[in-house]
Amino acid sequence: MDLKKFIRDIPDFPEKGIIFRDITPLLKDKNAFQYAINEMTTALKSIDFDVIAAPEARGFIFGGALAYNLGKSFVPIRKPGKLPYKTLSEKYQLEYGTAELEIHEDAINEGEKVLIFDDVLATGGTAKTLKSLIEKTGGIVAGMAFLIELTYLNPRKLLKDEKVISLITY
Ligand code: IMP
Repeated sequence: MDLKKFIRDIPDFPEKGIIFRDITPLLKDKNAFQYAINEMTTALKSIDFDVIAAPEARGFIFGGALAYNLGKSFVPIRKPGKLPYKTLSEKYQLEYGTAELEIHEDAINEGEKVLIFDDVLATGGTAKTLKSLIEKTGGIVAGMAFLIELTYLNPRKLLKDEKVISLITY
């Protein structure tokens, strides 16, 4: 199945000059959604890990399904102020301004192998931040997986020593 058919390009969103890859048509099509989850499930069997960690909001949609399918646990990573217990946080630079992500301080056990999942790998800045956050908890990043990779933004330059899997590339 050509999953690209289910990704909608939105020019100039959220800012002029950016093409936003919209995954909602893929989620709307039950066959495409199931196919994407199944393909990713198969691809992830090549990585040895214990936990899937994913950021809100679109990372949750796939991360939860993949964790269920593979019999792994799931750790949510959220924007500031959303997690109820004690958190660790990491700030990072966006094109305009800064952003921050948080994880519960006890979300991952020391030495646990973590697979990072997100919907889109663009510049790689978010993925790098997710890795730092997981390492702060004592976890080890075993790999990173994405539904979509925007190779024209060279994200792997920031992720040189990582095992990176993506299903759809532009
Ligand atoms: P990065 O930090 O530049 O790699 O951007 C990745 C983060 O921004 C991910 O959390 C994505 O969900 C989001 N993102 C960036 N570009 C897109 C896009 O075209 N479609 C959907 N999400 C995107």
